[in-house]
Amino acid sequence: MSRLNFQLEATASGSRARAGRFTTLHNEVLTPTFMPVGTHAAVRAQRREDVLDSGAGVLLANTYHLMLRPGVEIFEKFGGIHRFMNWPRSVLTDSGGFQIFSLPGSRSVSEECAEFKSYVDQTLIRLSPESSIAAQRAIGSDIMMVLDQCVASTVEHGVAERAMELTHRWALRSLAARGDSPQALFGIVQGASYADLRAASARAIADMPFDGYAIGGLAVGEGSGAREDCTGIVTELLPQDKPRYLMGVGTTRDLLEAVHRGVDMFDCILPTALAKQGVAFTSQGRRDLRRAAYRGMDGPIDPKCGCPTCSAHSIAYLFHLNKVQEPQGWQLLGLHNVHFYMQLMRTMREHILADDWLGFYRSQRDLLDARDSYGAPVRHVTKAQRQKLKLKLGRYEVVVRDRIGRIREMTSGEVMHPVNDPAEEARSLYVEQSRLVERLTEPEAAPLVVWDVGLGAGTNAMAAIQAVEAMRRQANRGPALPAAETAWTAGPTGPHRRLTLVSFENDLDSLRLALRHPAWFKHLRHAAPRGLLADDRWSSAAAGVDWLLLRGDFGATKFTAPLPDVIFFDPFSFKTDSALWTLAAFRELANLLSGKAAELFTYSYSTSVRAALLAAGFYVARGRGTGPKSETTIGLTPRAAVDADGGGISHGRELLGEEWLDKWRRSDAQAPMGTDSSDASWHQAVTAHPQFQARFVYSSPRTRGAHR
Ligand SMILES: [Zn+2]
Repeated sequence: MSRLNFQLEATASGSRARAGRFTTLHNEVLTPTFMPVGTHAAVRAQRREDVLDSGAGVLLANTYHLMLRPGVEIFEKFGGIHRFMNWPRSVLTDSGGFQIFSLPGSRSVSEECAEFKSYVDQTLIRLSPESSIAAQRAIGSDIMMVLDQCVASTVEHGVAERAMELTHRWALRSLAARGDSPQALFGIVQGASYADLRAASARAIADMPFDGYAIGGLAVGEGSGAREDCTGIVTELLPQDKPRYLMGVGTTRDLLEAVHRGVDMFDCILPTALAKQGVAFTSQGRRDLRRAAYRGMDGPIDPKCGCPTCSAHSIAYLFHLNKVQEPQGWQLLGLHNVHFYMQLMRTMREHILADDWLGFYRSQRDLLDARDSYGAPVRHVTKAQRQKLKLKLGRYEVVVRDRIGRIREMTSGEVMHPVNDPAEEARSLYVEQSRLVERLTEPEAAPLVVWDVGLGAGTNAMAAIQAVEAMRRQANRGPALPAAETAWTAGPTGPHRRLTLVSFENDLDSLRLALRHPAWFKHLRHAAPRGLLADDRWSSAAAGVDWLLLRGDFGATKFTAPLPDVIFFDPFSFKTDSALWTLAAFRELANLLSGKAAELFTYSYSTSVRAALLAAGFYVARGRGTGPKSETTIGLTPRAAVDADGGGISHGRELLGEEWLDKWRRSDAQAPMGTDSSDASWHQAVTAHPQFQARFVYSSPRTRGAHR
C-alpha cells in the first residue's frame, strides 16, 4: 500500500503530461509541482511566510548538509524538521548521494557504504543506505530518498553500469531500513546518459515497492537533449500510479519538457541562485538585470506576475539594488522567481486538466527560457543594422555569397559548406554517392534508414527529400501503380521502399536562422522543415518519407534511433564539434552498428579521421571529390565491406590500400582525435586492419618487397 495515495487525474492528449495529487503526513500536494530547495532548512534569503505564500507544497532539504550541521541529534531533540524550522507543509529529504558525488574532497564507495570527509571539520563520515534512512527518519521528512551512487552522466558505460547495479542493491537495503515508518520512500533510477542502462534501471527500480520514483544523475554534465531523451525513456517504463520526480532539474524550459514527458515533481536551486546574479524568469523569457538598459525602466519585471515583488517594485529599483549589491535585491528577485516557478506549475496543471496542453507546450518551448536580448542595440538602428541583426541567432550567423546563404558558427568562425554551392555538395557527396534513390527501388520491406548527423540548415536532409520526391513523381507518370498513399509500401516491384530520415541536432538555431531567409536558402521553401521544427517529425505519404528530428547530442540520441543503412556524417569539424570526431565516438558507433551493413559518408578526408574510422573497426574507402577537395571519405561496417567487391550494396567502393598506409606511417597526424600517448592500441588496430592484410596477401611480390 502506497503511503502517498497518488491519484492520477488526467493525462494530456498527444503527450505524456499528467496532472495528479497525493497526500503526505502534512498536506495534499497537486502535481505537477516544484519543490523550492531549502538546503540548510531554509530557502536562500526567503522567509518561510513568503515561500508558503508562493503555494509551495513541498520543501526540499539536504540530508547531507543537515547531518553535518546542525546534526541529527538536534532534529531528535526538536522532534523533526517541521518544528525546528516551523514549516507546516511537506518536506522531502534527499539521501546525500548527490552531495557525496558533487562536493569536492576525497570519497570512496564500497559495497557497504560511501565514505567521505566532512567539509566542515574534515572528520571521516560513513554513509550507508541504512544510516541515510536513519538520518532522514530523525529529520522527519514526509518523503525520504534512497542512497544512490551518482556518477557524471558522461562516464564510460561500464562505470555507469556498476554504479547503477550498486544503486539497485542499496535501494533494497533502504526499503528494509525504512521498516514500518509512515514516511514515504522514493527509489532512484540511475544509468548516466546510456539509454540501455536507463531502461534497465527503470525496470529494476519499478519492480520495488516504492511510494514514488525519481530520475537521478541528470543535470550533471549531459546536454539538455540527452537529458530529455533519458527522461522520456524512463517515464515510459515507470508505473502510472506513482509520482515521478526528476531530481535537480532545472530551468523553466526544462520543467516544461519534462512535464511533457510525464514527470510530476521537480526541485532546483536556479530560482534563488540566479536571483543572486540578477536574473529573473518571466513569462517573456529571462530578464538579466545586469543589462544597463533596465536602469531607468518603470513597471514590474513581469507584468503578468502577481507576486509581492512585481506588485510593489519597478524593474529600475531592482536593477539598482542589484547594482549596489544590496541583499534585499537578491531576496526580492528570488521571491519573484519562486513565485514564477510555482505559478508556472499551476498553469501547466490547468492546461493538462483542460486537455489543451499541446498548444500551450508549443507556445512556451522557445519563449520560456529565452535569453534576454533587451537593450541589445535595438534603439536607433539603421535599416542596414536591423537587417544585420536578423542575420544572427544564438551562435550562428548567415553569410551570403552569390545569393547563396551559408551558416557560420561564430565562436569558431567555421562555415558550413564553405566553398561549393551547399545544395550541389549535398546532392553529390551524400545523396548520389549513397545511391539513395536507387536503393529505394530495392525489393525490401523495411524502410531505408538514413541518419543525417548535423541537421544544420537542413541542406542534406532536404536534398534527400527532394531527390526522393522527384523520383516518386517520375514513377507516378507510368500507369498501373497503386494509389499514392500505398504505392511505397505495397507493390512487389517498383520504387516502393519507404525512406526514414533521422536528423540529429543539438542546436536548432542554425535551421531557425536559415528559415528566416528563404531567398538565400532555397531548399527550405518546402513544408517539411517547419513541420519538423514544430512536431519533431514530418511525413509525406505521397513521397513515402518519414523525417524524424532527434534533439540533443548525437552521442546519446543515436541509441534511440532505428539503425541506419546510410549515414550522412556532416557535422562541424573537430575544432567546433570535437566530441563527434574522436576515436571513442567512432568506436561507440561501430559497436552500435555491429552486424549491420551500413555506409558512412563524410566530407573529411583527413588522415586522423580516417585513422579513427579504421581503428574503430570501419573499412575506409575513398569518396568522390568536391570543389577543391580531391576526395572525401566513406566508412563501411565490416558487413558492408564484405560486399564491396561483390556487387552488393557497396560495390565499386575504392578501399584505401597500402599506399595510404605508407602515407599514414609518414604522417605527423597519425593519431585519431581524442587519443593520448597512454593508449596506443589504435596504432596496432590501424596497422593490422584486415583491409590492409587482405591486400598484402594478394598483392604482387614487388609491392610486398617494397615494405621489407
Ligand atoms: Zn513577480
